[in-house]
Amino acid sequence: MQHPQAILTRLGISARKSLSQNFLTSDYWADKLAKVALDERPERIIEIGPGLGALTSRWAKRCKDGVIIEYDRALASFLREEHPNVTLIESDVLRVDLRALCPPSIKTVVISNLPYHISSPIFFSFIEAQIFPHAMILTFQKEFADRLAALPKSPDYGALSVLSQTFFDIEPIGVLPAGAFYPKPGPSSSALLIRPRSVTVSPARLKTILRASFAHRRKLLSSNLQSLTTPERVTEIMNFAGVPPKARAEELTKEQYWQMVEAMQ
Ligand code: SAM
Repeated sequence: MQHPQAILTRLGISARKSLSQNFLTSDYWADKLAKVALDERPERIIEIGPGLGALTSRWAKRCKDGVIIEYDRALASFLREEHPNVTLIESDVLRVDLRALCPPSIKTVVISNLPYHISSPIFFSFIEAQIFPHAMILTFQKEFADRLAALPKSPDYGALSVLSQTFFDIEPIGVLPAGAFYPKPGPSSSALLIRPRSVTVSPARLKTILRASFAHRRKLLSSNLQSLTTPERVTEIMNFAGVPPKARAEELTKEQYWQMVEAMQ
C-alpha cells in the first residue's frame, strides 16, 4: 500500500493526535483483518474510523453494502472520492444510530482499528444499546484488549472482562506492533474477533454487581457486596451462586456473577 505519510503530504494534512489517527502501514495486517471480516460472509460491512482506507480498499469490492463512519472532514472528502460505492457517514460515531445500521435481518460485520481515545465508549455502546452485529473485528490498545479477554484469577481480570465475556465470545486475532502504524502509537495493539452471545442477563444489573464487587480488590467479595444490601442477603446471594464466603471478586466465573444477578432480583 502507499505509505500514509505520502498520502497525508499529498492532501496537505497531518495525522491528528486528538482523533487517535494512527494509520496502518502493514499490508500483512490490513490483508489479515479484512480477510477475517470477509470470511464471515457479511451482507453488510460497517467500518468505524476508516482513515485513509487501508482496510476499506480491501473489503469494499467484495461487499456491496458498505458503510464507513469517519469524523475527520479532510479524510471524509478523500474517502468520498476513493470509495464512491461505499456509504460514507461523516460524523462522530458516538452520535450515529448504530442500532439502525445493524438490523437483525442483515448479516452485518463491524470492522475497526478503533480510535483509542474512544474505544471503550464505542465498545460499550454495543452492549448498552443491545446492538449485536453478526461479528466485530476490532483493534484495541493491547492493554485494553487483554482486560476484555482475561480469565478469572489473572491480574487483568475485572469488571470489564466479565461484562464483555457475558455478551461476547472473544477470540484473539493477533498483536499488531506499534510499527504497523504511522505515526507509531506508544503501545502495541491487539485485534479481536468478537461474536455476540445470546444471553438474557441485564447489562444494567450486571454492571451494578460488578461495580460493587470490584470496588476494592483487596477486600473480600462479601464486604464489597455490602454496599448493595445487608450482610444476611449477601450471604444468601453468594450461597445461591456457589461462591465460598472468603472469595475475592477476581476468583468468580462469569456464570457465578450471572447467578448473583439472578439472586439479587
Ligand atoms: N482505519 C484506519 C487505519 O487502520 O489505517 C485508521 C485508524 S485510526 C486508529 C482511527 C480513525 O478513527 C481515524 O481515521 C480517525 O479520524 C477516526 N476517528 C476518530 N474519532 C472518531 C469519531 N469520534 N468518530 C468517527 N471516526 C473517528
